[in-house]
Amino acid sequence: MKENIDENDTKVEFNGGGKEIESQEEAARLKSEFISLMSHELRTPLNSVIGFTELLLAKGSDRSPKDEEYLDIVLSSARHLKSLIDKVVDISKLELGQSEMASEEVEVCALIKASLNELSHLAEKNSIKLVFNNMGQEIWCLGDETRIKQVIVNFVSNAIKYNRPSGRVDVDVFEDEQILITVSDTGLGIPEGKQNLIFEPFKRLSSQSSHIEGTGLGLTISKMFVEAMGGQIGVESDLGRGSKFWFNLCRVESPQQSSTTSLLEANETKNKAVSAINSLVLYIEDNAVNRLVMTEFFDEISGVELLLADNAHDGIAMAKKNKPALILMDINLPGISGLKALQIIRGLDEIKDIPIVAVSAQAMKHDVDEALKLGMDDYLTKPVEFVKIQSTVAKFVFNNRTDYHL
Ligand code: ADP
Repeated sequence: MKENIDENDTKVEFNGGGKEIESQEEAARLKSEFISLMSHELRTPLNSVIGFTELLLAKGSDRSPKDEEYLDIVLSSARHLKSLIDKVVDISKLELGQSEMASEEVEVCALIKASLNELSHLAEKNSIKLVFNNMGQEIWCLGDETRIKQVIVNFVSNAIKYNRPSGRVDVDVFEDEQILITVSDTGLGIPEGKQNLIFEPFKRLSSQSSHIEGTGLGLTISKMFVEAMGGQIGVESDLGRGSKFWFNLCRVESPQQSSTTSLLEANETKNKAVSAINSLVLYIEDNAVNRLVMTEFFDEISGVELLLADNAHDGIAMAKKNKPALILMDINLPGISGLKALQIIRGLDEIKDIPIVAVSAQAMKHDVDEALKLGMDDYLTKPVEFVKIQSTVAKFVFNNRTDYHL
């Protein structure tokens, strides 16, 4: 995967066809296409492995404890593989300079709150207290909201994973000419000689790598993201007492409310949940295994009925007839693609307001951005996990009603 394009050599052989590619740009484009295709091809079978293993585990039966343990190992290995694919794709894109980096005004306190919410389960599982010390403040910086959140999530999840039992994680934001975000933990700390190394790919501290799950790529990607946004990243650590990971970004004044809508707010307004009385969900997917996995998922969600279509043409007809509360749609469909179907549906008065969530193995940022820009309400990447489907249904079908438990 770490195949470097020699900067001094403009002729690059690619794809085994013996074809000489004259420009680095063309080589980079082909490499990017290859990565996109490869990650798609890997994700599709992974989807089945994760989906069916989750189902087997959820169903429970009179399996022996050993068999249960084997299934847990299959599931965590498949998830690990998925996380590796995601990260290798990210790194390759960054190395190729093809990772589009937005430069927008971002309110970091809301972003930190959202990240801590997402990680509250992991913290609870590890008996770690999460503390955010700038609650209620608004602090703005310049950067790419999605990437800043990825860095915060990486720092905080590490601070939870590599902490001691009943430890604590503090997140602080400081404002000066720049904004500085720090994540401090009460873990074992990192020896001084290793503090730079852990930002390199696949470098993990040996004391932790055997028993704590990780890929050794999170900090590499965080560093690339922060530096691409013009910031700096680093760590200070006190062996035996804890570590403080930090990054800084350019500070901006709070923009006029009317001129800027953050991604988070935009996503909120996109929530077009319809009446809770309608609990029909339509899934448009050509792959039979994926349909089966989804059917099994919906069997576990009470009060919701799943309709299936194996192509967009039939899917649109079913949407017109049944007016589902939510459409889940594969993108890579034969005939009418998922994105084309989205545009068709958005043009049909009677069904144009139905929320549509993409369910796709295409996980590149530009794929996701394009789909959201065209009007998808959300984008789930395969392999989709049961909890993601549950939260999507809770959000779009039940409008996050607190009195409804899936
Ligand atoms: P991962 O956590 O997936 O292994 P990272 O790139 O995020 O990958 O981290 C690389 C390594 O740095 C980790 O494996 C761990 O050894 C070390 N590390 C990261 N964060 C901390 C922390 N807060 N405390 C102690 N060690 C850490």
